[in-house]
Amino acid sequence: MRYAILSDIHGNGEALRAVLADIDRLSYERGARVDQLWCLGDVVGYGPEPGECVRRVRARADICISGNHDWACVGKLDLADFSGPAAKSAEWTREHLNPDERRYLQSVPEVTRVGPFTLAHGSPSNPIWEYLITPQGAAPNFACFDTVFCVVGHTHLPTIFLQPAHEVSVPAARWDDTMRRQVQLAMALPGGPSWSMLEQNRASVPPGGKVARCERLMPGSGLWVLPDGYRAIINPGSVGQPRDGDPRASYLIYDSNVGFEFRRVPYDIPLTQHRIREAGLSPKLAERLARGV
Ligand code: ZN
Repeated sequence: MRYAILSDIHGNGEALRAVLADIDRLSYERGARVDQLWCLGDVVGYGPEPGECVRRVRARADICISGNHDWACVGKLDLADFSGPAAKSAEWTREHLNPDERRYLQSVPEVTRVGPFTLAHGSPSNPIWEYLITPQGAAPNFACFDTVFCVVGHTHLPTIFLQPAHEVSVPAARWDDTMRRQVQLAMALPGGPSWSMLEQNRASVPPGGKVARCERLMPGSGLWVLPDGYRAIINPGSVGQPRDGDPRASYLIYDSNVGFEFRRVPYDIPLTQHRIREAGLSPKLAERLARGV
């Protein structure tokens, strides 16, 4: 099976179209189609084509989960939690989504699980808000999912965090049946039980095990294979607003027979910048795209 894993599109229609074309080209060239497409949230916010991005994700993605910007743009988060430019672009985006597009963003879950993967926008511990940047920050998160892999976005940095599977001493206790039921509830009733319930549950687990060590890799682009005996949290980077200094759109192909391929795709940045200015969004949002920051 082959999966395309996209995150943080941020209303950048040009970047999304380029990535979807790359996926189609790969399917053709390798004679093996990509079976599923997953989107890890932040479909909108910052960029000039939010409606177009929602429509394409809805049409192409087999799974989509919520990001903090998606929530802000559909009124599920207070804009006071956002920085000035992010709040301004969220307001603009709210006005440029039709009811259908809003409903779609409201309907997707915070976290989900499929085969050996858990999907969360920020982290398995705090899916909407937590940024996984350092190995210290990522390490305790391995106790918050029970699959081999967790894929996340949010930082816009292609990253791999690795932990030896046998060293995680707390996951079974933390990810107990109650927690699992609550996740299922949260998935079934978007807007219903929130992750804070899960957080309370996690906090109630008696401390017993140490947090195992964790390594971080910054893969750039190319193929990566999970070493035997490890679990991994993997970030595909951002389609629409990369922040690792490489302005090309970033995404991931997972081939269950081969491994993880981090891909970079050039797209028409000047055209996107033009659209941002034309929409009256902050010129800084246009300028940063060229530098990949
Ligand atoms: Zn984002």
